[in-house]
Amino acid sequence: MWLIKLKNNIYNFSIDELKSYFLNIDEKTFRAEQIWNWLYVKGISNLKEINNISNNLLRKIICKYEIPKLKVKKYLHSKDGTKKWLLSLGDGKEIETVYIPEKNRGTVCVSSQVGCTLSCSFCHTGTMKYLRNLAMSEIIGQIIFVKNELDDWRKNSDERKVTNIVFMGMGEPFYNYDNVLKSISVLTNEKGLAFSKRKITLSTSGVVPKILNFKEDSDVNLAVSLHAAFDDVRNDLVPINKKWPIKILLNALKDYSVRRRNKRITFEYIMLDGVNDSLVDAKELIKLIKPFRAKINLIPFNPWPGSKYKVSSSKKINEFKKYILEKGQIVATVRTPRGNDVLAACGQLNSI
Ligand code: SAH
Ligand code: SF4
Repeated sequence: MWLIKLKNNIYNFSIDELKSYFLNIDEKTFRAEQIWNWLYVKGISNLKEINNISNNLLRKIICKYEIPKLKVKKYLHSKDGTKKWLLSLGDGKEIETVYIPEKNRGTVCVSSQVGCTLSCSFCHTGTMKYLRNLAMSEIIGQIIFVKNELDDWRKNSDERKVTNIVFMGMGEPFYNYDNVLKSISVLTNEKGLAFSKRKITLSTSGVVPKILNFKEDSDVNLAVSLHAAFDDVRNDLVPINKKWPIKILLNALKDYSVRRRNKRITFEYIMLDGVNDSLVDAKELIKLIKPFRAKINLIPFNPWPGSKYKVSSSKKINEFKKYILEKGQIVATVRTPRGNDVLAACGQLNSI
């Protein structure tokens, strides 16, 4: 009988885990730092490119580890410069990753799950079957992939095309908590990709126990998909609200803001015509958000085939924004839809 020894995807390992590997084979731990530099500063796509390690040791490393690639199934390019890739994972399952270029920055919107267990009624991903959590290598792999596509390695920080990361692709990042947090520590490792913590944002639909963990475990930015100021409306839009209603969610966020005083929470609020866009909603929203150091990001609804909602008119959105700014003295911005001609905007991702 043949025994096939599978190699390990090297992007699944933290620098400390790589150090332990070298210690176990009686090598010095600085070897892990050398590898780290090749992977995350030089951006090699084959371990054979490493040229500052003896052939003997490199052979051992190559026997144990490999650099698998995410394969492109489909690529779409929006007229506004947004790029969207449908990527195939090692087991054939598929996810979407989006790159959004802006004047002084470029953002990668990463997926954290294949599908999503939560069925928010306005979200295309929510109509997909949940298949599984992504491994750390598949989360990190999306950023590596985009950097490869954009030729974004060995660049000074002011020349880089990928500067920001948002966990706003497919899935609920807090339901893949360990892999998402481990990925964030790789992304922010100063000897590697070195993303600033201020440039990484995680968006949650409101998984209360994980918000409480997150306040201790991480200081990247937090965005919360509030979307409604009244429980009956939010129950319909974000069904997880039946488990953790607005009051409980806001209590958890109060704990979060006590622990992370320097952080400003972003409340995401989708604009759905006739559902949550009246000035009564805006008034209640101000009441809820006022105690926080927060900003409100109004997201015009992005339609997808079969969706039952309509986006609020620009006039309504501007009135809503003005009311929040003037009556509530709360910063409110409107998120410009990006890539919506290729279904790459918020909530349009779906790999079926
Ligand atoms: N699951 C996480 C993160 C992914 S969704 C969450 O729900 O927060 C990222 C953002 O896009 C969320 O605020 C989400 O509510 C919003 N969104 C989902 N579908 C949308 C749509 N069709 N139009 C506009 N925004 C949408
Ligand atoms: Fe999942 Fe977020 Fe979409 Fe809700 S909005 S279904 S939590 S991806």
